[in-house]
Amino acid sequence: MARVLLLLPTTTYKTPDFLAAARELHLDVTVASEEPSTLESVNPGGLLTLDFRDPEECARRAAQFARTYPVDAVVGVDEDTAVAAAVIASALGLPHNPVHATVAARHKATMRRLLAEAAVPSPGHRVFDRDADPRQAAKQVRFPCVLKPTFLAASRGVIRANGPEDLAAAWGRIKRLLDDPEVAAKGREAAREILVEDFISGSEVALEGLLRQGELTVLALFDKPDPLEGPYFEETIYVTPSRLGGQMQERIAQVASHGALALGLRDGPIHAELRVNESGPWLIEMAARSIGGLCSRTLRFGTGMSLEELILRHALRREMPGPERERRAAGVMMIPIPRAGMLEEVRGLPEARAVPDIEDVTISAHIGQTLVPLPEGSRYPGFIFSRAATPARAEAALREAHALLEFRID
Ligand code: ADP
Ligand code: CA
Repeated sequence: MARVLLLLPTTTYKTPDFLAAARELHLDVTVASEEPSTLESVNPGGLLTLDFRDPEECARRAAQFARTYPVDAVVGVDEDTAVAAAVIASALGLPHNPVHATVAARHKATMRRLLAEAAVPSPGHRVFDRDADPRQAAKQVRFPCVLKPTFLAASRGVIRANGPEDLAAAWGRIKRLLDDPEVAAKGREAAREILVEDFISGSEVALEGLLRQGELTVLALFDKPDPLEGPYFEETIYVTPSRLGGQMQERIAQVASHGALALGLRDGPIHAELRVNESGPWLIEMAARSIGGLCSRTLRFGTGMSLEELILRHALRREMPGPERERRAAGVMMIPIPRAGMLEEVRGLPEARAVPDIEDVTISAHIGQTLVPLPEGSRYPGFIFSRAATPARAEAALREAHALLEFRID
């Protein structure tokens, strides 16, 4: 049996889906996580403790592990583990993304610079030291603009500013977020930076793709039908297939492919976000990972294969079907956090699940959990999934189900 080393941070939503895909493929699995498990001694081939913030040390430990339990593929699930996966794969002699490309994809300032150098349509930008004077910064940028930390995800700390006053307020708020001990430890030197970008208007799409030796296959293109105008950019609904015209979809794929090339990404999943306006598609972000949260559950390929199975097949250099996405439309809603506070109860679940075309409603927050809305928060309370004959119906079902849910928050 082939063995896959899965890098699964304790905070990831994706563990069950990757484990299910590994079972489907009859793989031996080693789960690497940051926190030592007491089970490690009982199941020494199945569990490994790795500190993903230190990829070199990860590679050393993984190489030592692989002497007893040979590893055939290494797969990371998010941007931090993408770097560790590339470093480990390189140490084990397995095909992988260049390490510098995964590092660039994780650091928004580097990504912006490489995209601009390669003339990939992307927002004009400037990087500031957090201790710079925001009044001076306001003189050097165009409005409206978007301020963000350079190393966070899920729209954390991403704030639109329409003028100097907004900019100063957003700056202060991002500084406080960067002072959070966990955030500061994650960002290290990057926690000193505030990135300011031109605001790109237009509608937004997300492209899910797979790179194979630098060649991009588009697995799915999602529309984001809720307007994302700011000041915060909460993800809500994703619907695929896209309702954009075929020609625009082609251009989007080209920009994404060009973006991957500019960063140096070559192998494995990518998740790109683009905005589309009268000048065409603009690349907002490209990550060397698959779609976040539980959203991959919207996707099925060929005769029902999951995205995680495709990713594992690719990592193992196994034969891969098409991969054609199933014909039906599908949607997911990342349930927005209604307000800050402690989650006391979720009502209306049976009613929401009974809405036609709704496949599932998953509440991932637990009762008693403190919910923190954007721009500081980072976890969704849950996900709603739909599958329908058309994208419009997949979207309508999500909205109907969401309206039936009631989050009681103290
Ligand atoms: P994250 O990695 O946290 O997802 P992004 O840079 O992708 O951060 O920003 C999150 C969202 O904020 C984007 O999906 C988009 O809706 C909005 N956004 C970010 N930058 C810009 C920009 N320059 N112009 C317009 N919208 C933006
Ligand atoms: Ca993003």
